[in-house]
Amino acid sequence: MCLFWFRRDLRLHDNAGLYHALKSGQKVLPFFVFDTDILNKLEDRSDARVTFIHNAISNLHGELQKLGSTLLVKYGKPSEVIKELLQGYEVKGIYLNHDYEPYARRRDAEIQQLMWDSGLTFNSFKDQVIFEKDEIMTKSGTPYKVYTPYKNAWLKAFEPEMAQPFSVEDESSRFHPHEKTQVIKLEEMCFKPSAIKVPDPNLANDTLKRYKDTRNLPALDATSKISPHLRFGTLSVRQAVKLALKHNDTWLQELIWREFFMQLLYHFPASAEESFAPKFRHINWRNNEEEFLRWCEGKTGFPLVDAGMRELNTTGFMHNRVRMVVASFLVKDLLIDWRWGEAYFAQKLLDYEMASNVGNWQWAAGTGADAQPYFRVFNPDSQVKKFDKEYAYIKRWVPEYGTSSYPTPMVDHGMARDRAISTYKLSIAQT
Ligand code: FAD
Repeated sequence: MCLFWFRRDLRLHDNAGLYHALKSGQKVLPFFVFDTDILNKLEDRSDARVTFIHNAISNLHGELQKLGSTLLVKYGKPSEVIKELLQGYEVKGIYLNHDYEPYARRRDAEIQQLMWDSGLTFNSFKDQVIFEKDEIMTKSGTPYKVYTPYKNAWLKAFEPEMAQPFSVEDESSRFHPHEKTQVIKLEEMCFKPSAIKVPDPNLANDTLKRYKDTRNLPALDATSKISPHLRFGTLSVRQAVKLALKHNDTWLQELIWREFFMQLLYHFPASAEESFAPKFRHINWRNNEEEFLRWCEGKTGFPLVDAGMRELNTTGFMHNRVRMVVASFLVKDLLIDWRWGEAYFAQKLLDYEMASNVGNWQWAAGTGADAQPYFRVFNPDSQVKKFDKEYAYIKRWVPEYGTSSYPTPMVDHGMARDRAISTYKLSIAQT
């Protein structure tokens, strides 16, 4: 018998590691661990992502029971849980999918050692991307640091079979037979259900066809909302890429941005903690805590920034265009360290993913591998004129906009822009 460990791939269909486990000819016992090393770091005891995972796990448990099998759901430290499973069952090996975040890589290396020390197999597979870590490299064998050549190489290397699903339907009798198990309750882990729901993916033909023209308009529901589903694996990347190939190149390019940032974080894990470009490691951030709080609460007096922050605080989602605007405002207009913004997004975003979050924050801050130039500072008012000229998005999230109870702008944008540019120049001079 072998174990299959669900992590950020919470589905039975088109799951590479699960497919290989079932094809191995052994009975497969699937399990999931609510990892205390991760859960204990969450500040919000009704974190919407925990509720979402809990629902996804309960669904998987139900699906597996229908197949006459089960899902073991554990709560603890993964290495301890796995040691316990090795004692309780006659296991020959473990199957799982690669996870590229720094914490996951350390954790998986420990499990690999544990398995090998016990004379058992450790079988890990690529599942969450089409191309991983070192599959798309420059001619000189180094990782790409610039998106466009990466994208071109990605498209050149891509073959349609790579988006074919891993189908397991006729293998279902290979699951370990049913055991009486229950999914641990949220309350037993000291969590409460969240009122925030993860939206279903919007993969309607019309949405994807119109994407290129409407994706920058936050008032419309014109993007796919698949990001949390890709994050937790309730949707497979192959399914998304197949749809993109059918409908829209622009949308495919967004999926390639995701893989671009994943390979960057894999090769440069330190970029999660420091500016990628050494010349921007000496920025004299102002880091004013009161101003940071006004940004977090959506009370800056800049309506598009405030609308975005309130959307985030209320729903766990923020439109991509608005994410760029709020990030630029925090980093450039307020001169607050991008890591503060990154950490706030990490707490709030349903789709939080370290690679995309760090990559995009560093893009907006101008400190990243392939970032916008440091002297380009978004003007939050012109962004309204371009992308929300009817004020429909703003009015939705900032109903008091235009009345006397709405705050005046907390900073003069022209002054702040000049201040940011000269502060960045000083960092370059000190390098
Ligand atoms: P769509 O527009 O429908 O795009 C489809 C998919 O393509 C997305 O789900 C996502 O997987 C990928 N994608 C799209 N844009 C980007 C991008 N710029 N970078 C990487 N992948 C992209 N995305 C996350 O998934 N997690 C994050 O933590 C995250 N943090 C961000 C922080 C900032 C400051 C910014 C500017 C962007 C961030 N993004 C993040 C990228 C982007 O905003 C979201 O992926 C997108 O808004 C999700 O909505 P959607 O699924 O409707 O996207």
